[in-house]
Amino acid sequence: MNTAFIGLGAMGQPMAAKLAGAGCLQQVWNRSSEKAAAFVAANPTVAMAPSLAELAQHNQLIFTCVSADDDLCEVIEVMLPTLQKGTIIIDTSTVSATTSRDLAATLSDIGVHFLDAPVSGGVEGAINGSLSMMVGGSEDVLDKIRPTLQHISARVVYMGPSGSGQSTKAVNQIMAAGINQAVSEALAFAEAADLDMEKVIEVVGGGAAANWFLQHRGATMTQQQFDPGFKVALHHKDLGLCKAMMESLADGDKALPIVEMTLLHYQRLMDEGYAEEDISSLFRLKRRLFSDD
Ligand code: NAP
Repeated sequence: MNTAFIGLGAMGQPMAAKLAGAGCLQQVWNRSSEKAAAFVAANPTVAMAPSLAELAQHNQLIFTCVSADDDLCEVIEVMLPTLQKGTIIIDTSTVSATTSRDLAATLSDIGVHFLDAPVSGGVEGAINGSLSMMVGGSEDVLDKIRPTLQHISARVVYMGPSGSGQSTKAVNQIMAAGINQAVSEALAFAEAADLDMEKVIEVVGGGAAANWFLQHRGATMTQQQFDPGFKVALHHKDLGLCKAMMESLADGDKALPIVEMTLLHYQRLMDEGYAEEDISSLFRLKRRLFSDD
């Protein structure tokens, strides 16, 4: 089955490279064409699709990995007239469950399958092909493409009907916010206590408080390096989706404290010009708890 990948950003590029390396990818497309050109130069068995319309016409399996709901809807809308009956679109972006369900319904009307398949594991997981993937939609359709997915994901879990993958990703993003809060605050505390930060990360990372974020972002955070990774603006977008979900799940003015606090903190970082930094730049704010600046 001809396969294409749309969206060669921090996550899409390494995922597409894994598929290309396994001989499972024919075409790529990226909004800024220089990223697609660089990709095909590095992966000569893959071609740059001349347009989204042509990509839609010639591929039976299409991966998407774009920033947010509106971006995904735009891409699908452009492809809609040329998509072929039976095509499978698998979306690895993080968007709302509602958007996923709406797209699945629209595409189903023209005989196209849509799976919401957000991923977790960071850029490192994408590079290693070890992402965790949570999938909503038809299980039969998922089973057809599992052999391809094994090249990018070490764990593909079917969650249920359309939207279930994205609802599960919301769970992941709430947890990731809490972990970022805990790790950045604790490491700012360690720094203020004048501890050896390398040793703190080593010993705490071997105990009950060990976690992926401490392991992968602890050292860089304390060295004031905040290259993405996962951008503040994107996690802010995801927590907005969690907040909206919470409003639909609980009556009245109930809110999720970790989500609310992290939204405020990320907004502050974005206002200060750090939207494109990795989410570990929350450490910038935590350090201020220990200074008068
Ligand atoms: P990124 O590096 O900012 O890349 C975003 C990609 O989306 C780029 O290829 C961009 O094209 C494309 N795009 C944005 N708006 C578009 C539009 N309107 N039409 C077409 N293409 C558009 O972001 P990322 O980190 O790869 O994240 C991509 C998705 O994966 C997001 O939904 C994010 O929440 C999710 N995610 C990220 C991580 C992570 O650790 N980074 C982990 C799990 C999930 P251009 O190159 O032209 O800008």
